[in-house]
Amino acid sequence: MTKIAVIGTGYVGLVSGLCFAKIGHNVICVDSDETKIAKLQKGEIPIYEPGLKAVLDEAVANKKITFTTDLASSVKSCQAIFIAVGTPQDEQTGSADLSYVFKVAEQIATNIDSYKVIVTKSTVPVGTNLQVKKIIRKINEDADFAVASNPEFLREGCAIDDFLRPDRVVIGLEEVEVGQGEARRIMEEIYSYFNKIAPVIFTDIATAEMIKYASNSFLAMKIGFINEIADLCEKVGANVRKLSEAIGLDARIGNKFLNPGPGFGGSCFPKDILALTNIAKKNNVELSLVESTIISNGKRKIKMAEKIIAANNKSVDEKTIAVLGLAFKGGTDDIRYSPSIAIIKELIKRGAKIHAYDKEAIPNTQKELGNNSDISYFESPYEAIKQADSIVIATEWEEFRNLDLEKIKKLQKNNILIDLRNMIDPKKARLAGFKYFGI
Ligand code: NAD
Repeated sequence: MTKIAVIGTGYVGLVSGLCFAKIGHNVICVDSDETKIAKLQKGEIPIYEPGLKAVLDEAVANKKITFTTDLASSVKSCQAIFIAVGTPQDEQTGSADLSYVFKVAEQIATNIDSYKVIVTKSTVPVGTNLQVKKIIRKINEDADFAVASNPEFLREGCAIDDFLRPDRVVIGLEEVEVGQGEARRIMEEIYSYFNKIAPVIFTDIATAEMIKYASNSFLAMKIGFINEIADLCEKVGANVRKLSEAIGLDARIGNKFLNPGPGFGGSCFPKDILALTNIAKKNNVELSLVESTIISNGKRKIKMAEKIIAANNKSVDEKTIAVLGLAFKGGTDDIRYSPSIAIIKELIKRGAKIHAYDKEAIPNTQKELGNNSDISYFESPYEAIKQADSIVIATEWEEFRNLDLEKIKKLQKNNILIDLRNMIDPKKARLAGFKYFGI
């Protein structure tokens, strides 16, 4: 079993650390955020992710995991150091902001006292792993280490399952290491658990870095495609739900990521496709499909706000809109680039008051939107719906599928239901007396 340090204990670092511990490795999770570490040391999970608490309790009981802010001693005592810090979008350039990754590389450098593999799990542009290597070498010219790229494909909301039962594991190593070498041996040992579960693909570093961006960009394009097809279906009187089911049955297309909705958001797709187009520009390569996806998705959120306004007799001024769902998707408290938040901002700009409900994402939304008298938060969908002029389903939390339509009909005012996630059966909504607007 390998001794692993995971630097950065966010959505990816925490899940990776806990899952490595679950499959038997000895893990130290490191974060510079003292509050986060203090919570974890007390057995509390600082984010919402289904099932994580049980994995944490098991790992702690088995003495497989510890949490610390002490990066130096963690690096010294482990053989593999995973970097899982954020690589957010640089708002000015649109490229990935690598400052957190490079800072960690500097911090690791001075603490390498025996052979280590420095593994980048964060999503980073081509060339970053080699830059990490250069940074470490510059600070500690005698350091004995190799770098590896190991992009992560988990999805928030089902992160444990995704991590433990991935479609594939990708490991990029430098040429000297790909065939054989100490870094390959260590990475094979870490991922030996997955040998019977998923293909473990060893490749060069640039390819591993590109695989992550190409994969996210393809999925984003698929969502953008079905959203545009949905618009056309609406105009020509076709049913996009049936269309999606039918085209998804073609094995070459597949049925995943074919649900039309309010556009993609989250901490990955928007920033990763933008970062990919920036890599392409720097290399004078045209990625027109990916660029179009960015434009299409940007317009989508405004289009959705327009759809809501149109459904409200062309104005939301002084109207109360109940928005059900704030997270960028169901199963998470993450609101980064959430379509729901973008739509709420637009509706408020147009004079609306918002009654907001989300099972998990209210605290993050309050942080993002600050003290805003145009938005009130509620603890149940029914509370949010009371006295609202219309209802918008903006995030696919399963509970919205089973809303008691008779009950909400009595609570709200104008019988307008706008279902941006196609969660409610239109026939049932109309039977209950709603003017139903789906996608
Ligand atoms: P996050 O913001 O949730 O977590 C990052 C953590 O790193 C934070 O807890 C922060 O305090 C910590 N950190 C920052 N600098 C540090 C330092 N110097 N030392 C120690 N800790 C430090 O980010 P995330 O969502 O887990 O994403 C991490 C990376 O994984 C990103 O590159 C992201 O693109 C990629 N990724 C994310 C997902 C996802 O679903 N969230 C999926 C796949 C890949």
